Amino acid sequence: MANLADSLSVTQLSSWSEPGTHLAVLGHPIGHSLSPVMHNAALREIARSRPQYSDWRYWKIDVPPELLPSVLPVLRERKFLGINLTVPHKVLAMRLAASITLEAQQAGAMNTLKLEPEGYRGFNTDGRGLVKALGEDFSIECGDQDFLLLGAGGAARGAAVELVRFGCRSLWIGNRSAEGLNGILPVVQGMATSTSIHPFLFSTLPPDLPAGVVVINATSAGLHKDDPAPIELSQLPRPSAVYDMIYNPPSTCLLREAAKLGIPNANGLSMLIHQGALALELWTGEPVPIHAMRSALKLSKPLSTR
Ligand code: NDP
Repeated sequence: MANLADSLSVTQLSSWSEPGTHLAVLGHPIGHSLSPVMHNAALREIARSRPQYSDWRYWKIDVPPELLPSVLPVLRERKFLGINLTVPHKVLAMRLAASITLEAQQAGAMNTLKLEPEGYRGFNTDGRGLVKALGEDFSIECGDQDFLLLGAGGAARGAAVELVRFGCRSLWIGNRSAEGLNGILPVVQGMATSTSIHPFLFSTLPPDLPAGVVVINATSAGLHKDDPAPIELSQLPRPSAVYDMIYNPPSTCLLREAAKLGIPNANGLSMLIHQGALALELWTGEPVPIHAMRSALKLSKPLSTR
């Protein structure tokens, strides 16, 4: 039997003969992923009262982007019921799914696939996972709030779409490059009815930003332990909270800066848990024991800094 802690290779899939029902996260690289730890813990907990889940397993599979089109049919044949997608597959998979939810279409990216009779259906649970995380970490009701979103990639797009859907008061979207910013704006502006949208580049911070915004970092600046923060918090009117989607490393320069200024702050672990729980709920149709996911992550080895 393969070891759940190891990453599977594409080659291993061709001779796949594990019994049971299978789920997996696909990425490249994937060795660092904590998704199997939290999903297998939740599945064990669910199976305590519902034995039909006792042979469900969640794997991690290293899939280079050029192999994704050929790997998805193999996973379908091997009856992998649910798939999570991480870097670099979230956008790439859009043209490979049999159907896509409106939520994922608007986000232009998907992080979850569910096997249906006609093939994989694509979902995006990142945005809803973020909103749940903000509620949990800061008791924030997104509807009556101003947000400063940093980044314009897949994660930022999922977040922006969800915040606008919630009808947040204003959304300030900043990015390093104009190209990235121009990619995210048409969708968000097209959806916004009650939300005012304010784009800016990191090189020119907006002079009219109100105090009390919730800052969300959806850039990859901070993934490496010596990365500087994408913007200087001290240059802004005082935010009410700072959320960094990065959870590995657990503390980024942006979060340290927030702590130094006495601003409530949290890393992306809560979003990881909630987007994962929403995916598991889609696959099983069962209520998901979030406490089991959280405890498993706390007990897992200290997070390394990539
Ligand atoms: P993408 O590659 O799609 O987007 C990256 C974004 O980061 C772009 O806006 C890019 O700007 C910006 N960027 C990259 N490097 C820098 C830098 N040095 N300084 C400033 N901006 C930079 O990645 P994703 O959107 O998929 O992921 C973004 C982050 O969110 C990652 O750190 C990821 O780990 C995290 N994430 C966390 C999740 C969770 O559950 N906690 C879920 C999903 C993502 P430009 O357009 O100029 O290139």
